[in-house]
Amino acid sequence: MQRIAVLGATGSIGSSALDVIARHPERLQVCVLAAGGRVDALLALCERHRPAHAVIADPECYAPLRDGLRARGLDTQAHCGDAALVDLVASDACDTVVAAIVGAAGLDSTLAAAAAGKRLLLANKESLVLAGELLMRTAHEAGTTIVPIDSEHNAIFQCLPDAHAHAGLARIVLTASGGPFRGRAREALAQVTPEQAVAHPKWSMGPKISVDSATLMNKGLEVIEAHHLFGVPGARIDVLVHPQSLVHSLVEFVDGSTLAQLGLPDMRTALAVGFGWPERIASGVAGLDLLAHGRLDFEAPDLDAFPCLRLAFAALAAGGTAPAVLNAANEVAVSAFLQRRIGFLAIPALVEDTLAALPSTPATSLAALRDADAQARRYAGQAIDHKA
Ligand code: NAD
Ligand code: MG
Repeated sequence: MQRIAVLGATGSIGSSALDVIARHPERLQVCVLAAGGRVDALLALCERHRPAHAVIADPECYAPLRDGLRARGLDTQAHCGDAALVDLVASDACDTVVAAIVGAAGLDSTLAAAAAGKRLLLANKESLVLAGELLMRTAHEAGTTIVPIDSEHNAIFQCLPDAHAHAGLARIVLTASGGPFRGRAREALAQVTPEQAVAHPKWSMGPKISVDSATLMNKGLEVIEAHHLFGVPGARIDVLVHPQSLVHSLVEFVDGSTLAQLGLPDMRTALAVGFGWPERIASGVAGLDLLAHGRLDFEAPDLDAFPCLRLAFAALAAGGTAPAVLNAANEVAVSAFLQRRIGFLAIPALVEDTLAALPSTPATSLAALRDADAQARRYAGQAIDHKA
């Protein structure tokens, strides 16, 4: 029996993970559920999945969580805050961790899972962008298996099953849907609204990653993510826009072979790979009927309309603290855009300004990375306040 902690349980990835888990009661069991602040949603999940532990980040939600569990007659233990979550993730309460908190808020729990040698189903890409070297080193030293829960990286993971394959790897090609604004010129993006930005044509996801998909920052973060997960330099990572979102990424080898993984755009496939690997287990996702889809299209990304992708490549090339600064400025900008405080085109502008204002320094420690993250949040926040 695999005992599973689902972090970010009330989110999009969290609910897909719980769907897959519920299909395999004989081998998968929910032991920890963690969420940010939606107590009612977390309580409903506790009632359904009966975990031993439930963790809420927001301190004001602790009493309602504890009382709600009691009122429902559940013996789930209530906890509050990141420190409690880190302890639980590292404890023997679980052996598999689904890291699906959004943003840098997921860093500590992800690192704790990596250090504790758990099977780590890693959706929280921001922790890899912020502290990729440290996270990969920590996982390596602890013998942690990381299965990427990002459709592209999960595809690459499936195409690169062993170290021998890595040796002949020539290039990674990440596919991108292009988001809701694919094909639009830069000028046409000035007035787009948060509602339009989160209406993704192919994937149903949380608000932050949906905006990242609309700016192509998501693909930029994924380039950095791929660099850390697979040890490939940015110069050998390409991005190809593929509007149908059926080819989830490709791996090219030195002998001219290209392998790809295909499937319907549904994260339950990646999650089932994560829980079952190296075995294959059912995910609830139907097989792919290529005849029904008819065609697969590919085009180059438009870096003029979507400069975030270029900024991410530049941050990866600069190294050191630059990716942490990129990620933090982007989190602040996306949040301000969702609150209608800034326009869509201000997102890349703000990220670019923050990167220019805080030149990269060597990322010698976690403290240095956290410091860069905090400085970037401060700088970007002040820049927004000045404009507002
Ligand atoms: P979401 O907004 O739907 O859910 C986020 C979850 O994180 C919620 O459960 C929320 O309660 C929790 N959370 C937020 N702040 C928290 C905090 N401070 N402490 C504890 N929990 C907190 O987001 P999502 O779309 O599920 O994405 C989650 C992560 O997975 C992101 O890093 C995203 O980039 C990645 N990802 C998502 C998808 C997808 O299809 N949704 C695909 C690939 C990668
Ligand atoms: Mg992805």
